[in-house]
Amino acid sequence: MPSSKGYAVLDAQSPLAPFTFARRDPGPTEIAVEILYCGVCHSDLHMARNEWGQSIYPMVPGHEIVGRVIATGSAVTKFKVGGIAAIGVIVDSCRQCAPCDRGEEHFCEKGATLTYAATDRVDGSITMGGYSNNYVVDERFAHRVPENLNLAAVAPLLCAGITTYSPLRHWKVGPGKKVGIVGLGGLGHMALKFAHSFGAHVVQFTTNLRKKEDAIKLGADEVVLSSDPEAMKAHANSFDFILDTVSAKHPFDDYLSLLKQDGTLTLVGLPEEPPSFSVFNLITRRASIAGSMIGGMPETQEMLDYCGQHNIVSEVEVIPIQKVNEAFERLLKQDVKYRFVIDMSSLK
Ligand code: NAP
Ligand code: ZN
Ligand code: ZN
Repeated sequence: MPSSKGYAVLDAQSPLAPFTFARRDPGPTEIAVEILYCGVCHSDLHMARNEWGQSIYPMVPGHEIVGRVIATGSAVTKFKVGGIAAIGVIVDSCRQCAPCDRGEEHFCEKGATLTYAATDRVDGSITMGGYSNNYVVDERFAHRVPENLNLAAVAPLLCAGITTYSPLRHWKVGPGKKVGIVGLGGLGHMALKFAHSFGAHVVQFTTNLRKKEDAIKLGADEVVLSSDPEAMKAHANSFDFILDTVSAKHPFDDYLSLLKQDGTLTLVGLPEEPPSFSVFNLITRRASIAGSMIGGMPETQEMLDYCGQHNIVSEVEVIPIQKVNEAFERLLKQDVKYRFVIDMSSLK
């Protein structure tokens, strides 16, 4: 491959800055893509600043990638040069364990390879993500994109989309179910769109009532200000399922008490501090707290195909890569509607 360029952080304190590095030529089952768009996920910010204590530097973040195929290995069947491919949060796995066999590569017993800041299984290098001009990946870990969708608005589906689609499907959200979505950000707005599309009665919880009109446009039947105790109490013991997408520490008990008997609170947001909650809120309704992480490769393709059939994409603010540090700061202030996406043609 010609040398790759992107934006990297060199340590947990520094801003993203231009960076040059190398990627291998694609092997027989691999493709190379020229990246067109990459979404800015809150996980990129957690990772850049080492908030989960697992970061490796230098780090090129980015795992919501849409690109044009520029080379294919001799055994590639899924893609042709000139076509569009999408890459998400993982780019490899052991491909042999039971979860991998089932197409749940994200639960690989040997650990899936993350798109950035992980050790590459093929050449031992550190993976570099999508805030860059190109990527090389096995075709198993790349997805086809429905032709009717806007490519910039597709990029966030590769993380925010699948991370919310998968638990909503797993817990069978649909007609007759009352479902809560906590936090209206990148993940939250996709959860709202999917839960509405699946036919549930959807309540959006937010810390910011200025988002109410948007929430209703995106599919909420009701919007609740989570800091208003009376408004919260009005929904006590009524939810089948609540999906929590919040990126910072917040009270779980406020939501557990809204579950009805046998209800589930599923966490996808990843605050840096460990949570605490009252066990009484669980035992008194036989409630469950669960977690969910992205989705496997077949389910990610299913999600993209569903989006194509139902015309679902992310609400995006497209930015040049030179504004990515500003985007991180705005993300922290919840000042984004509802996902930043980098237009990689700005990377010179
Ligand atoms: P985001 O766009 O920043 O959205 C997070 C939302 O959380 C905000 O819009 C805000 O919603 C709410 N929020 C933020 N700070 C809060 C606080 N102090 N108290 C209460 N609510 C607060 O982030 P994102 O990209 O959607 O990511 C959300 C989280 O999911 C991150 O922790 C990320 O790392 C994690 N994640 C997990 C997975 C997975 O596989 N499980 C995948 C991707 C991301 P309101 O303004 O509406 O209150
Ligand atoms: Zn992500
Ligand atoms: Zn495996």
